[in-house]
Amino acid sequence: MVCKKGHHYGLHRVIEPAGVLPQPAWKLDPTPEVYDNECLIRVECLNIDSASFAQLKKEAVNDPDRIARQIMSIVSERGKMHNPLTGSGGILIGTVAEVGSRFPSAGAQPGKKIATLVSLTLTPLTIEKIRQVHLDTGQIDVDGQAVLFASCPFAILPGDIPEKAVLSVLDVCGAPAQTARLVKPQHRVVVLGAGGKSGLLSLYQAWKTAGRQGQVIAIEENGEACEEILSLNIAHDVICLDATNSLAVYEAVDKATKGALADLTINCVNVPDTELSAILATREGGVVYFFSMAVSFAKAALGAEGAGKDVQMMIGNGYAPGHASLALESLRECGDLFQVIVRRYG
Ligand code: NAP
Repeated sequence: MVCKKGHHYGLHRVIEPAGVLPQPAWKLDPTPEVYDNECLIRVECLNIDSASFAQLKKEAVNDPDRIARQIMSIVSERGKMHNPLTGSGGILIGTVAEVGSRFPSAGAQPGKKIATLVSLTLTPLTIEKIRQVHLDTGQIDVDGQAVLFASCPFAILPGDIPEKAVLSVLDVCGAPAQTARLVKPQHRVVVLGAGGKSGLLSLYQAWKTAGRQGQVIAIEENGEACEEILSLNIAHDVICLDATNSLAVYEAVDKATKGALADLTINCVNVPDTELSAILATREGGVVYFFSMAVSFAKAALGAEGAGKDVQMMIGNGYAPGHASLALESLRECGDLFQVIVRRYG
């Protein structure tokens, strides 16, 4: 069979508005027939981005059937799982069904199980059936089909970690990779939303580098998650606090660091209105890494200006070379972290 020639960045799949790339597009053509630079995936499970899932859950008042209907409606209207309110997506796992002639052959043979490492907001997707909505993890078991472009990274599922644990970790693997790049041994590091997936993985990277000479401070609202961080022994201070309360966060970090504040603050919260907390917790000239999808550029920019804080602010790029293997390696290195992730998501 001869496939049609596809555009490198997937422009051939964009229906509306014409000419834009698949991520910002409103609607994609998800027809499950491969172009020459695509791979077709039989989808088994979606990991909905946490900011998106928190919004869907709130709107559906925790009703899984309503969430399933919301997801079906978004995917059938947009040809992708792109939450119009949060702008975020997630990732998926599935089995390679078909590969176009120009799709890089590295491992993506039919029958291989893979996880996509690009957002569902640019992944053409059809869902035939939603089998189960997991309210506790944001994972959705589905029967569906998705298309991956040659330009999009993916990972072959490893055999030594349960698939759903891999899915949850790979969704956020940009955060620990950037943390590993940013933390220096003497740094004071604050992680907001430290008890979630990206928070724990970032804490672990911060602890590896700054655990001896520096200080690692975990801020998390969920009491059970705070207990888990304590048991993992990957933070000097674990503070159970609402990260939307900017003054309380500032005062807690000021006290814990004896007035020095953080050299680096990593924002991994899944709810809005935490921009100023991250900014106020950080020293003059320090760095704020906004991984959270619930962060608003305007609130961060204007909040820093209003507080007269000269901090560097970084957008949480979900991609960094080697990000997937670094995140999975963290689980192999730290058995206790592995246990927590597998217990929650595996
Ligand atoms: P997660 O596992 O849900 O973790 C978020 C954590 O924040 C949870 O422990 C949550 O507690 C806690 N939290 C919620 N409200 C809080 C508050 N007011 N104060 C303090 N802690 C609070 O989320 P994740 O999957 O790690 O994702 C974290 C963020 O990164 C989300 O916004 C997600 O959308 C975003 N993300 C970004 C990228 C990227 O490429 N930049 C990729 C994937 C995800 P509960 O469990 O009690 O709610």
